[in-house]
Amino acid sequence: MSAPVLQVENLHVHYQTSAGIVKAVNGVSFQLQKGERLGLVGESGSGKTTTALAIMRMLEGPARIAGGEVILDEIDLLKLSDDEMRMVRFDRISMVPQGAMNSLNPVMRIREQIRDIFEAHGRALARSEVEATIAKLLARVGLRPEVAGMYPHELSGGMKQRVCIAMAIALKPQVIIADEPTSALDVVVQRQVVETLGDVQRELDAAVILVGHDMGLMAQFVDRIGVMYAGRLVELSPVAHVFSSPMHPYARQLISSIPNLEEKRLFKGIPGVAPSLLDPPSGCPFHPRCSEAMARCSVEVPALCETAPDRWVACLLYDEVLSHDPTS
Ligand code: SF4
Repeated sequence: MSAPVLQVENLHVHYQTSAGIVKAVNGVSFQLQKGERLGLVGESGSGKTTTALAIMRMLEGPARIAGGEVILDEIDLLKLSDDEMRMVRFDRISMVPQGAMNSLNPVMRIREQIRDIFEAHGRALARSEVEATIAKLLARVGLRPEVAGMYPHELSGGMKQRVCIAMAIALKPQVIIADEPTSALDVVVQRQVVETLGDVQRELDAAVILVGHDMGLMAQFVDRIGVMYAGRLVELSPVAHVFSSPMHPYARQLISSIPNLEEKRLFKGIPGVAPSLLDPPSGCPFHPRCSEAMARCSVEVPALCETAPDRWVACLLYDEVLSHDPTS
């Protein structure tokens, strides 16, 4: 396998609150290959968006990166100065944000907003090439050239999200992070926006991290899924395996809670509530909700281990497998 384009190692993010430290991301590690699509899923507060923002170095106080490495092409992004990181954003790694309306400048036409990205990275477009370059970029995300002259409020939600994708790919980054890019859109537009994201990702051969909780969207789009719980990655497996044979008890419950039209049954949620990250349970953070918990689960913290090729899980149930695997 070739060297990963992005490597996240033991990432920790803390929020300093008046009640104490909230460990929002607690030792997350994964790798991303060129052209790969990885989905990060989990309940609200599981740490998936915080992980994405930490990789982009876009966290705001009181959040701070408390440890770890984010290696993009042999450079640790966490060691760059703010100015250096500003040059890396858009150019090598970019983000399609959750709410397009909040990330577009309401008083600037789309043309100026896209042109600014080129200028800020020392690649100012010559006057003669501005229109053609921007029209080409807009066409790649399925928008007409006239959109360049519009203000954000003149665009629909789906169009705004496409503009955000156009901005994210303007400088041809190697990695695109899309944080719930379709959460505010209706299902038809959601599908179109995700298809657009997939098309541009293929053209660039960029890697994508799709953050979200829509498992249907994940099934359509990603190659691998990382399931997060209480700030930790608890399963990381190819998407087909996560749907057909999830390993972690939380991932199993997440999959079995997806409504299914073919198989009509009682809707089953996940019992209990997500733990407080201010005072998380001892041992495995899922143990108070886990139907398979053993006595040791409230004491030992399971590490994310590869229990089968390309199948990673953080659960003490699989210690047996590991201890009998001669290759481990
Ligand atoms: Fe359940 Fe124990 Fe596995 Fe945690 S370690 S998921 S409590 S079986």
